[in-house]
Amino acid sequence: KLNSYIDIPGVKERTLVAVKPDGVQRRLVGQIIKRFEQRGFRLVGLKMVQVSEELLDQHYVSLHKKPFYPSLLRYMTSGPVVAMVWEGHNVVKSTRMLVGDTNSAEAMPGTLRGDFSIHVSRNVVHASDSTEVAQKEISLWFQCSELIDWECCDHEL
Ligand code: UDP
Repeated sequence: KLNSYIDIPGVKERTLVAVKPDGVQRRLVGQIIKRFEQRGFRLVGLKMVQVSEELLDQHYVSLHKKPFYPSLLRYMTSGPVVAMVWEGHNVVKSTRMLVGDTNSAEAMPGTLRGDFSIHVSRNVVHASDSTEVAQKEISLWFQCSELIDWECCDHEL
């Protein structure tokens, strides 16, 4: 059966990706979305948001005591963010590989950060770093009604 892969565990995995304010301001949104589409992942949620400090406090809960946290808050509220939920087999791990190392100098060429960023404090894109964190982040950023479970037009003709 053509779509039997749907039953393999992990196929329905989802992750949160956000184009950070520098990515939006530098007109990189389309190029970033393109990389996920060409890989074959399925876009199930998408919105532009001016993020609040309250949301960021929950999103970056493990970073509150870091010296860079105040500047991270200023950066993440400096303009809109484009938040997305992508779905597919091992999407969390694959997305982290696609996004590249947190530190831009360590990010491999070909990754989003390796291609578009030169500093850790302006690293263009966020991606959840585990399936547990992805579930938490998706429920923080999106209402259930904003996630749409669609099928391909050639699914069952
Ligand atoms: N960050 C920063 N300076 C640092 C480390 C991190 O400004 O020295 C920012 C950066 O935007 C990074 C975010 O904090 O993406 C979250 O850090 P984390 O270690 O969770 O990295 P990520 O999961 O984004 O790769």
